[in-house]
Amino acid sequence: MGEVSQPRIVVVGGGTAGWMTAAALARFCVPKFSVTLVESDEIGIVGVGEATIPSIRDFNSALGINEAEFLAATGATYKLGIAFEGWGRPNESYVHAFGLVGSALGVVPFHQYWLRGRQLGISKPLGHYVLHTIAIAGNRFAHVERPAGSPLPPMPYAFHFDASLYARFLRGFAEQRGVVRQEGRIVSIERNGENGDVSAVLLANGTRVAGDLFIDCSGFRGLLIEQELEAGFEDWSQWLQCDRAVAVPCARVEPLMPLTRSIAREAGWQWRIPLQHRIGNGHVFSSRRISEDEATAQLLANLDGEPMADPRTIRFKTGRRRKTWVRNVVAIGLSSGFIEPLESTSIHLIQTGINRLLELLPAAEITDAAREDYNQRSAFEMERVRDFIILHYHANQREGEPFWDELRTMEVPEELKHKMDLFQAIGRVSPSFDELFDSRAWVQVMIGQNVIPESYNPVADLLPEPRLREFLEGLERSHVQEVSRMPDHGEFVAKFGPMNR
Ligand code: FAD
Repeated sequence: MGEVSQPRIVVVGGGTAGWMTAAALARFCVPKFSVTLVESDEIGIVGVGEATIPSIRDFNSALGINEAEFLAATGATYKLGIAFEGWGRPNESYVHAFGLVGSALGVVPFHQYWLRGRQLGISKPLGHYVLHTIAIAGNRFAHVERPAGSPLPPMPYAFHFDASLYARFLRGFAEQRGVVRQEGRIVSIERNGENGDVSAVLLANGTRVAGDLFIDCSGFRGLLIEQELEAGFEDWSQWLQCDRAVAVPCARVEPLMPLTRSIAREAGWQWRIPLQHRIGNGHVFSSRRISEDEATAQLLANLDGEPMADPRTIRFKTGRRRKTWVRNVVAIGLSSGFIEPLESTSIHLIQTGINRLLELLPAAEITDAAREDYNQRSAFEMERVRDFIILHYHANQREGEPFWDELRTMEVPEELKHKMDLFQAIGRVSPSFDELFDSRAWVQVMIGQNVIPESYNPVADLLPEPRLREFLEGLERSHVQEVSRMPDHGEFVAKFGPMNR
């Protein structure tokens, strides 16, 4: 793309991935680059993907999006974590919350002291020491700022939002800043005879959209990256066996909870995502274990409000594209691979794909080094997320249920096995610094699913028992007090960012 004065970037697809990419390019690359987005109304978007993690706020703020406007435009609510119901033993539940787990107490992490307290019989369940979990229990939310110099970070949070409205919102943002939208179905792809790069996409209506760099956001089909460039797919379904989801929105009920619920079912799990105008529900399941009809019946029998549409089934294959940048095509979104939404990671992976793209954006010719860097980092990131998701399935105690029995007894990837063994032995968890899920996430899920270490770090013994007791009681008390000053989540949302209707 070196000699072109205004290099042309073509984004193929207008789902969440396409419009997030186009919006970021509009913000940071126009007018140095021209940006065109092609989407087909006839094909439509996957239209699910409503729960996020706190990094979504980095994306929105990088674009300069006002939070209240965003809430109003997308029917968004706040999210402080995910409740996992029945993932350990059938009648137990725990929360994987954002933010701190406990508080700094000494040289070893809080959970080591908690483990000692547990052995002494003075620790309550871990969630009693997590601010977000206590806020969730009371349906409370506030923007918590910390005074200057406070050792505590501001309270992290994420959103639930309507994916179609978010795409529309970002479309407005991108078009206002010069992105050109081209409606139409791509029917063929033109390649450069010399170097094999994609040179243009041809639409059913005869339009030809030429480009120098193509971003494939065409969804599961991977129109450019796979159908044209045959990047290959690494299948992970031996560990993550769910391959379908049936989704249905239902009427909103009170209270408006600031959390996503993930409820384990016979052969999969059900999500419940509260928005301002409805609740998003879905049942992710293994078609080898139950039929689509059974999965749909289980979902419909477990809704909080009246269904607002017919249930819709989405088929998927879990795994990753072997290469996400091939020639002059970068795959972002579902075209780059898919991991089920158990920890709401897909939109985050879109963001990191965009970040990598921006970091490596070619000034002149695309180099192999840039492609390799992009591909290696994508693979690492997705594999580590995969392992964290497998953990939820593997660490189950749902004995006697064939789906769960198989997952509990299967061989897991080596890296995950190492993490679980280390934790089981001495309570240490050591994700590398560039993994998405840090030790707080691993600790909450492992302890939540009864992976309890055989011993804790002996340094925790140096704290006198009365001091530990006092600390634990004081921490819980201060969290409860802080939460009692927060407003009700539903009231907060209604006041701060009521939906435009
Ligand atoms: P799509 O939405 O499928 O968009 C593809 C685009 O490509 C469309 O605009 C289509 O028109 C266009 N296109 C395709 N072919 C052509 C063609 N020939 N010509 C022209 N245009 C074409 N993520 C989360 O972060 N949180 C969640 O809670 C979550 N839940 C999910 C639940 C399920 C069941 C599934 C399947 C996914 C979930 N995701 C979630 C993932 C999330 O939905 C996706 O990451 C996100 O929607 C991005 O999709 P996409 O833009 O890559 O693809």
